[in-house]
Amino acid sequence: MNVGHAQKKAAEQGVSDRARLIALCAGCLGLFINFFVCGVYVMSGAANALVFGEVAIYAVILATITVCAFRRYRIKQSFTIGLLGLFLVFWVGTFLEAATGQTAPFDFPLVLFIPLFLVIILQHQALFATAPVQAVCVYYYTCEFAILDIGPDWLPADQNAYALMMAAFSGFSFCALGIVAFARERADQKMVELIAEKDTLASTDGLTGLLNRRAFMDELQRLWGEQKTVRIAFVDLDHFKPLNDQYGHSVGDQILKKVANRISSVSYVAAAARLGGDEFAVVLKDDIASETVDGVLSRLHQTIVSDIRWDSGLITIGASIGYAEGETMGQSLSGLLRSADTAMRRAKGSRSDWARFNPRIDNEALATSTLEVELKSAIKNGQIKAAIQPIADAKTRKVVAHELLTRWTDSGFERDPSPKDFIPIAEKMGLLNEILWVTLDEALAHLDLREQKLAINVSPAQLLASDFLETLLSVLARHDVSPRAITIEITEEVAFRNVERNVAILEEARRLGMSIALDDFGTGYSSLSMLDTLPLDKLKIDQSFVRKSDQSAQSKSILLAAIRLAKQLGLESCVEGIETQKFAARVAVLGADHIQGYWLGRPQLVKDAQREFQIAS
Ligand code: C2E
Ligand code: MG
Ligand code: MG
Repeated sequence: MNVGHAQKKAAEQGVSDRARLIALCAGCLGLFINFFVCGVYVMSGAANALVFGEVAIYAVILATITVCAFRRYRIKQSFTIGLLGLFLVFWVGTFLEAATGQTAPFDFPLVLFIPLFLVIILQHQALFATAPVQAVCVYYYTCEFAILDIGPDWLPADQNAYALMMAAFSGFSFCALGIVAFARERADQKMVELIAEKDTLASTDGLTGLLNRRAFMDELQRLWGEQKTVRIAFVDLDHFKPLNDQYGHSVGDQILKKVANRISSVSYVAAAARLGGDEFAVVLKDDIASETVDGVLSRLHQTIVSDIRWDSGLITIGASIGYAEGETMGQSLSGLLRSADTAMRRAKGSRSDWARFNPRIDNEALATSTLEVELKSAIKNGQIKAAIQPIADAKTRKVVAHELLTRWTDSGFERDPSPKDFIPIAEKMGLLNEILWVTLDEALAHLDLREQKLAINVSPAQLLASDFLETLLSVLARHDVSPRAITIEITEEVAFRNVERNVAILEEARRLGMSIALDDFGTGYSSLSMLDTLPLDKLKIDQSFVRKSDQSAQSKSILLAAIRLAKQLGLESCVEGIETQKFAARVAVLGADHIQGYWLGRPQLVKDAQREFQIAS
């Protein structure tokens, strides 16, 4: 795996594009000059077989350079070999012309400068290699032929010194160009490296040198477009936090680095990233046969978990791996990632080394993790709405209150999630109060609570928030609603932990005028002792009692006992889940104070309930 490889390639591509342009221009210009000079020779009547031969060879070489550059075929090689060929052909031709007495007065400056132009754009190695050839050729040419042009009266010693001087001048000019070319090549290389380094820094995890999350997602996106199947493994270290606490952060960092090196060393890994903390992700090579994936995952796990020697002791590393593979047709990249994550959690939960995503087992967990991701933005985007369900007097059937319930609307899922699915998740994420303030605010804006009450569901964790009562009062005050209009529905879990504090808050709420109802009475394990502990005004008898009351006389007696118990304790009773008129009549006869259920009215979004109310009135 080569971090920043793509960026380096792009920078190199830029340099090679420039070389191609130079080769193309040089080839075309060379061809033009070649045929132009040939034309001059023909028109001046100086053309002969040698000239035509030279022109033909030049044309073939220049055309080869041009075509190779145009077709991007071995541009550098064809350019270098072609120009060196031109250089040699030039000298052979020049010596042949001179030997056959075809020198012209302007030939001498040409032998100094034409070779120079031919090699000027070559790399430094070629320039340094041709410098002595040029010097020797100039020396011989000057001695043998040019002196004749310049002046036959020169003394042989002067002639030799002059030829040497010319040779040295020409050779050194080649060397000077070589040095310039060397400097230019270094600058190019440095630029390529700098670009690669800059992009590498932006795309790698500073600690481990693996890809960072963003670069990993880019890489996945690229593979998603290129491969038929993408194979992902999620790696999460076990108990890394205690290790970090025990040995200190610098040791923690060393462990992460070591693990990163180990992951990279596994031959089937095509790309690896540290996603954050002790979480890594790996893309496996796509040429692995499906049946060997298990072996690869085992090897990956074994490689990661071997002990690390530290200060003459051994640190044991644990890891859980989740694997998911996806046909890129018809699946989403983020879905695949979540699947691997879900499988990893299952592996961790079952203390397995690794687990493959299995839709039959993991879909529920996957749905939960999807809801977790979406819920936060749902609250922010106003998809969480208030719904109300009426609660009526059991005898007169007059609506005396509403229960505030939450609905997730326009969720974008096939079916909007039910509160039974997302309320436990919101509780786990500590979002219930946020949801309560949003829905309560919406409900209070629409409801008239002078005659009727509003019941709100409050879980123990909500109650424990330090500003719970304060915020509740401020929301009520904003809508000019008295605390007397509010009933807090709690479940008996309130009495499981932090009992004293919970009781104190509930008592404070009561002192402010609110009522407290125990929700879903009869479904818990220690209902009776709760009645003693909690400050209550009302029992909401769970809907299962009503349903069962139809099945046996015994169940009916239990329902009656629950209603009587409330009465004897001086509490109001409300029976939930009244779905038919028969049940409504039955619980009224049994002495219940209030009823709630689909028969009376299903929960409705506050805005819809309000519209109905307006139409009715
Ligand atoms: P709950 O507080 O016992 O609310 C009554 C639940 O029973 C509601 O379900 C309501 O739709 C359902 N229900 C009412 N009448 C009938 C009936 O006649 N037949 C049947 N089969 N069901 C009936 P929902 O709205 O799905 O809420 C489920 C639970 O989620 C609630 O039970 C409550 O514990 C919790 N919940 C809902 N909204 C909130 C909220 O905003 N905050 C908190 N903390 N909990 C909430
Ligand atoms: Mg309730
Ligand atoms: Mg209930």
